[in-house]
Amino acid sequence: MSALLQSMNSRAASLNIPLGVQLDVTYRCNERCVHCYLDHDDHGEMTLEEIRGVLDQLAAAGTFFLTLSGGEVLMRRDFFDILEHARKHLFCVRIKTNACMIGEKQADRLRDLGVESIQVSIYSHRPEVHDAITKLPGSLKRSIEAIRRLKARGVKVIIANVLMAQNFGDYPGVRLLARELGVESTIDPTITPKMDGDRSILGLGIGIGELKAVMHDETLVGDIAEFCAPPPPVDSDVLDELPCSASHTYCYISPYGDVFPCVQFPLPTGNVRQQAFLDIWRYSPAMNDVRSIRPRELPVCSTCSHVGGCTRCPGLAYMAGDMRGPSVQDCEKSYARTGIPSANMMLRAAVRHDLVQIHL
Ligand code: SF4
Ligand code: SF4
Repeated sequence: MSALLQSMNSRAASLNIPLGVQLDVTYRCNERCVHCYLDHDDHGEMTLEEIRGVLDQLAAAGTFFLTLSGGEVLMRRDFFDILEHARKHLFCVRIKTNACMIGEKQADRLRDLGVESIQVSIYSHRPEVHDAITKLPGSLKRSIEAIRRLKARGVKVIIANVLMAQNFGDYPGVRLLARELGVESTIDPTITPKMDGDRSILGLGIGIGELKAVMHDETLVGDIAEFCAPPPPVDSDVLDELPCSASHTYCYISPYGDVFPCVQFPLPTGNVRQQAFLDIWRYSPAMNDVRSIRPRELPVCSTCSHVGGCTRCPGLAYMAGDMRGPSVQDCEKSYARTGIPSANMMLRAAVRHDLVQIHL
């Protein structure tokens, strides 16, 4: 993170400003990705006027970074009206899309409206793998054509590749494709449970051996010795740090106006159709509960040697049943990276051992 961004974040945190917000404008989508956590029916999306009102409130609250996502943003016929309004407020706008619906006209408008970047989901460089994940025949070809259109207009594009067992072997191919297209690429091994609590899609994720291979791939992580080094001793400052940006400088708003601490943290805190955004941000008991969390008071994580370097996601922990508990997916990442089991893993192993003893 640049020094400027770091200073903006810490100033926003100290002033309680929602510097970054993700607004999903719809959950409808033209793809049906196997790992998607959303319900794609429309249960009463906010109207254009309601969304304009939310954007006005975000501008007044001090938001600068605005991510517009979905579902597929272009499923909304009024998407460019939303974007136009957002740019009138001079938000730094990032868009997440599968890009299948970005033709010449749409690419022109995205350029003219000056979006900061467009993140496009690509799961493989091979159509048979990508299209099997999106369940939309021809989707890889369409997404790549759109990336070329955007690039030709000087729009910044980032390819986002979610890793699953189904496409794991293809991540070098996706990186190569990104290089050929002249765009950046990221990979993410995290699968999120469905918003209704169904955790079955977690089974699509990669296993610990594959995670270890990713963490030890120097083309991804750079200096392996440094990246995979054992965690440094835990000092007391680490235990008082903010766990992540959720509810401190960032939050998420659904197409129905529900406000959550993060897109990956479905704890209801209020709805902008019933309450002013700033009232929810400042005074919601749920938002303030998340805000109060520090590593020091986490029963398991505070005892873990990884606590300083762990990417523990309180949202994933919440979805597993306790936002103050460990996040198993992040325990696995810390273990795959360093080879050192987390406090949570050792605790679970001890419980299993005790159970075996009881049964013997
Ligand atoms: S760690 Fe989890 S809850 Fe926090 S910002 Fe990241 S995804 Fe959201
Ligand atoms: S590795 Fe697991 S137990 Fe340790 S701090 Fe991270 S989430 Fe908590």
